[in-house]
Amino acid sequence: MSCNSRDCANNKHCFKPAKHKGQLVGDGECRGCGERLVDFARVRSRDVNDIDHTVRAMRLELIRDEFWCRKFNDKALTYSKKKGMKLLCEQVPQKIMSNIGDAADAFDGRRVPVDQEKMTNPYEYAFHATATCCRRCAQYWHGIPVDRPLTLPEVDYLSALVRYFLEARLNSIPPEPHGQQQLDLPPTNDHND
Ligand SMILES: [Zn+2]
Ligand SMILES: [Zn+2]
Repeated sequence: MSCNSRDCANNKHCFKPAKHKGQLVGDGECRGCGERLVDFARVRSRDVNDIDHTVRAMRLELIRDEFWCRKFNDKALTYSKKKGMKLLCEQVPQKIMSNIGDAADAFDGRRVPVDQEKMTNPYEYAFHATATCCRRCAQYWHGIPVDRPLTLPEVDYLSALVRYFLEARLNSIPPEPHGQQQLDLPPTNDHND
């Protein structure tokens, strides 16, 4: 699983623009099938009242949908239960700032693990799910340029997306280590990790 993965036959695409001679090419279209399935002008307007639509759009991308569906590992679950929902949500802006607050650098795209064994907290899942994992993803999904620090309104908006994910994924986790983790959104892929 990487940012370039796609499964177009199952309507899970990859909208990450390719880089050609320093230019981004194919902005808005799937790398695999070339389809333009997302209203990027609408998503990039970053309207906090339109997050339902933004999430549906992001879930057309394989890597995002994978993280909307992927079960939290034990470390992330323990972390979540220890902090509790309120504190987890309060700390979202500072987590975003420390992950992608600065302009893109050479490590952009390598800070947040994708391997299930390497993940340690729920923010990492949330970052991939909401395209706040790196500046390049935040650029093509949210229309935020990579070459400068995030502004406060941008941090606020991205925080709302991450909170939306945490609330959808964690509110239904029972306090006891019994029972199944449930999602508000129906999983569309089978994941066996
Ligand atoms: Zn496609
Ligand atoms: Zn990314």
